[in-house]
Amino acid sequence: MSGLQLKGISKSFGGVRAVEPTDLTFRQGELTALLGPSGCGKTTLLRMIAGLEVPSTGAILLSGRSITELPAHRRKFGMVFQSFALFPHLTVRDNVAYSLTISGVARGEAAGRANELLDLVQLGGFGDRRIGELSGGQRQRVAIARALAQEPDVFLLDEPMSALDAKLREEMQVELRLLQQRLGITTIVVTHDQREAMTMADSIVVMSNGRVEQMGAPQDIYHRPENAFVADFIGKANFFDGIVRSEGIDVGGALLTASAEFLKGSPVRVAIRPERACLDNEPGPNRIAAEVTFVRDLGPVREYHLKTGFGPVIVEYALGEGDLGLKTGDPCEVRLPPDALHVFPAEPPAMAAE
Ligand code: ATP
Repeated sequence: MSGLQLKGISKSFGGVRAVEPTDLTFRQGELTALLGPSGCGKTTLLRMIAGLEVPSTGAILLSGRSITELPAHRRKFGMVFQSFALFPHLTVRDNVAYSLTISGVARGEAAGRANELLDLVQLGGFGDRRIGELSGGQRQRVAIARALAQEPDVFLLDEPMSALDAKLREEMQVELRLLQQRLGITTIVVTHDQREAMTMADSIVVMSNGRVEQMGAPQDIYHRPENAFVADFIGKANFFDGIVRSEGIDVGGALLTASAEFLKGSPVRVAIRPERACLDNEPGPNRIAAEVTFVRDLGPVREYHLKTGFGPVIVEYALGEGDLGLKTGDPCEVRLPPDALHVFPAEPPAMAAE
């Protein structure tokens, strides 16, 4: 089997379980993003894949063969770190050629290969500069070229955009994605930025507390979140706590019709994306009395903040979608289409501290 597989990989540091036993498959030639909040174990997982951290349990397989015991320098993986970790005293070309020259490639040949890679990352002509003479985006391209010098089997990047400003970060995301597709190299990117993950990835692995919450294509993760954590972490969502009754879900102020199968009496969390909630005159189930408490015009979208009998709801309309133009203080009815409602089992209450 091609690609990279993790089987029961976990990592504990003393008493801290950083990564729970995890099974994952990274498909050959695809870009996968490891996404999650700070401390959820993304970097630890990446470092185990890179061979920089020894797993507490489990195996790592590349094209079906175990590399679990292989030291990092024998894995033929390219890495780009948050800090880029370039050598400031070397020229751009020598930075890129470094790994080739230390592995015995003749200087001239290594320099020629470095020049090709610099062309690839649009830095042809910058080879003689010092690192200090480059912008943040240019340094990042050097780090990428350097990591690609050994023609790695797998390309690993840990928060590669975090040192860049927002605009440059977006440009570099597109650039990196196009380069990765052109080279067809299996790539894993650690990020805590969902836009970055959605821009670049074929597949997103959402993590929390050392666990994989969901893995899937960006659109699947967004439209079909498997639990409340994913619905909350990816995109925006309104949440209501409720109890399943025979007539619908009682959210303490309204009875919602939803297509979900739960035992009667079960506590659930109901979620709906702001762009799926409606302020319109269409008939249908789940029309609920509300009042506009705030209107926020964000340019491409307008947000209506509403007060209802079961808590606040935000409704979002894209520019040109033709909303009703309601104002703060207006009474209205919000419609929550049943097929737009995600229903999850409620989290069990946290154990009381002893
Ligand atoms: P961030 O986005 O903040 O970098 P992360 O998702 O990459 O976070 P990790 O760096 O993998 O998270 O850390 C996961 C957990 O393991 C955290 O609780 C962290 O404190 C702990 N941890 C990581 N490395 C070590 C270490 N060397 N020794 C002890 N604990 C560690």
